[in-house]
Amino acid sequence: MPSVLVTGGAGYVGSHACKALAAAGFTPITYDDLSTGHRDLVRWGPFEEGSVGDGERLSSVIARHRPVAVLHFAALSLVGESVRDPARYYRTNVASTLTLLEAMRRHHVEAMVFSSTCATYGLPDRVPITEDTPQRPINPYGWSKLMVERLMADHGSAYGLQWAALRYFNAAGADPDGETGEDHEPETHLIPRALLAAAGAMPAMDLFGADWPTPDGTCIRDYVHVDDLARWHVQALVHLLSGKGSLALNLGTGKGWSVRQVLAAVERVTGRPVPIRMAPRREGDPPVLVADPSRACALLGAEARITDMETIVETAWRFLKGRRVQPERKVM
Ligand code: UDP
Repeated sequence: MPSVLVTGGAGYVGSHACKALAAAGFTPITYDDLSTGHRDLVRWGPFEEGSVGDGERLSSVIARHRPVAVLHFAALSLVGESVRDPARYYRTNVASTLTLLEAMRRHHVEAMVFSSTCATYGLPDRVPITEDTPQRPINPYGWSKLMVERLMADHGSAYGLQWAALRYFNAAGADPDGETGEDHEPETHLIPRALLAAAGAMPAMDLFGADWPTPDGTCIRDYVHVDDLARWHVQALVHLLSGKGSLALNLGTGKGWSVRQVLAAVERVTGRPVPIRMAPRREGDPPVLVADPSRACALLGAEARITDMETIVETAWRFLKGRRVQPERKVM
């Protein structure tokens, strides 16, 4: 079976992608420094511990496993932290990716699928967001991802790299079989925080602003199920390996949900109220981010299979209950 190097394969989207790769007949080689990833979520292929900034270690792993391509997830991803410590973000997300691209060139690995983000669009003038929307990030995290898109494009023109920049909207949910899921420390994302608050594992969840110019006053996001995201990574990989050309694609569903709509789904699924504390708007939050997914649909056939918020929340809840909610506090 052809091998694929998966940086960050012990993380949230990366581990789901490993499962999808294995199901499609690839051997995922997880390369992860475990700074935020989890060893027990590496279940679908070999594990190699290492940092993406360590060119020698990368070279030896690539020489041993001879991957046909790289899926590159390893990165720091907290917007607020990137504002406070941009140097760390540029080193980890940008400089390390250059090291990875150099190791790939040395070993003639010519395809890379990269987890980019809708944060590269900053505050868009119009929604839904197409890929032609100007990319004007408003924080170092978004810039670091945009810089990697540029690195890949230039490596494509000069050295023949085949690349895919997959700009995710809000990755959400967990593997429907419960084999992997989202486990961040600290957890900053809406759905797991609302679930933790409903389970009593957190006193209350801050709701960042109810005075936005949206129908119910709360922010609207496009929540895309991680199982769909994982499958689309494999489809992008197959597209590149069959010589169909490089890609920049939005990965979303085209449907927006307000924070209050998400909270209502969490209450229905858990059967418990979500204790809320009203908080000021979070800096850098655009009011509405929704993808126009037509290009991904046309080029990859990337139709979302899970678009119902309750199903998204149910999968997240199943995983979280088994992992983060302490037994004495478990509510089943
Ligand atoms: N949000 C919130 N309370 C939280 C976490 C998130 O009100 O504890 C809101 C946040 O302001 C945004 C939406 O939920 O409007 C989704 O936030 P998340 O951090 O999950 O993803 P982001 O859109 O920032 O990538």
